[in-house]
Amino acid sequence: MDFLQTPENQLFLGVAVAIVAIGIGALYLYSSKKPKGCLDPENFREFKLVKRHQLSHNVAKFTFELPTPTSVLGLPIGQHISCRGKDSQSEEVIKPYTPTTLDSDVGYFELVIKMYPQGRMSHHFREMRVGDYLAVKGPKGRFKYQIGEVRAFGMLAGGSGITPMFQVARAILENPKDRTKVHLIYANVTYEDILLKDELNGLAAKYPDQFKVYYVLNQPPDVWDGGVGFVTKEMIETHCPAPAHDIKILRCGPPPMNKAMAGHLDALGYSPEMQFQF
Ligand SMILES: Cc1cc2nc3c(=O)[nH]c(=O)nc-3n(C[C@H](O)[C@H](O)[C@H](O)COP(=O)(O)OP(=O)(O)OC[C@H]3O[C@@H](n4cnc5c(N)ncnc54)[C@H](O)[C@@H]3O)c2cc1C
Repeated sequence: MDFLQTPENQLFLGVAVAIVAIGIGALYLYSSKKPKGCLDPENFREFKLVKRHQLSHNVAKFTFELPTPTSVLGLPIGQHISCRGKDSQSEEVIKPYTPTTLDSDVGYFELVIKMYPQGRMSHHFREMRVGDYLAVKGPKGRFKYQIGEVRAFGMLAGGSGITPMFQVARAILENPKDRTKVHLIYANVTYEDILLKDELNGLAAKYPDQFKVYYVLNQPPDVWDGGVGFVTKEMIETHCPAPAHDIKILRCGPPPMNKAMAGHLDALGYSPEMQFQF
């Protein structure tokens, strides 16, 4: 330690240590900085459709390009975007949609859209071709998922109401630090109507201790081990976490289903704080 005997050398060492510390700090800040999102909550921004993949006669997956290959959409988990289009009468229409991609998917985002014959925004999506632009504004929504906010989620989804549930479930399950349990009841008319079936079954197989899905069909196939008819109180009791201060039941479906589910949840003793409707 003869080197430290002189004041010059002590000063030199002090400056060197300070420079290294500042360098490490700057590197940490740079690497932990989240990339900036591409959404504007006040103004619509245009995103180019680069791929359209028909999943069934009335459902398609739309892939939109972000400004650069490393851009992220910047949508908090649990929130959605507003999409603007024109209906068959050329009147403006704005509807909410939840991408099935997360910010871990860089350079693009995807929407899985169910197009109803008489639906106004459905018309816009039906007419969209690769190369067209979609006007999008956001993030929107009252729900923003925070890791550890509940011990378990129950999810009651109908038809295209699966997309917000899928987004939240994916974010939880793909985060090794998040041990929240997810119990999904997903209702449709026929087996062919089940959206994201492969993705949901894949999550259930990969995370059997954390994620369970129970399908309910109005018109089940001949061989069927899921629920039949509409979602009942008994199905919720069997497949969702019981009322407790540290659980939440999310619901998203057509208005009649949401209304029926709210009635079931109230009757089963879930307080308003334990329920959320997208
Ligand atoms: C938070 C949130 C996220 C959503 N995310 C998605 C998504 O990712 N993908 C997606 O496809 N949709 C999603 N939706 C639904 C979407 O916002 C529209 O309601 C849907 O696309 C229908 O709009 P439309 O203008 O085409 O139909 P509308 O013009 O509103 O309705 C016309 C007719 O279509 C039929 N219809 C409309 N909605 C439904 C329904 N839910 N169930 C059964 N019949 C219906 C009815 O017959 C209705 O009379 C989401 C909704 C919410 C609240």
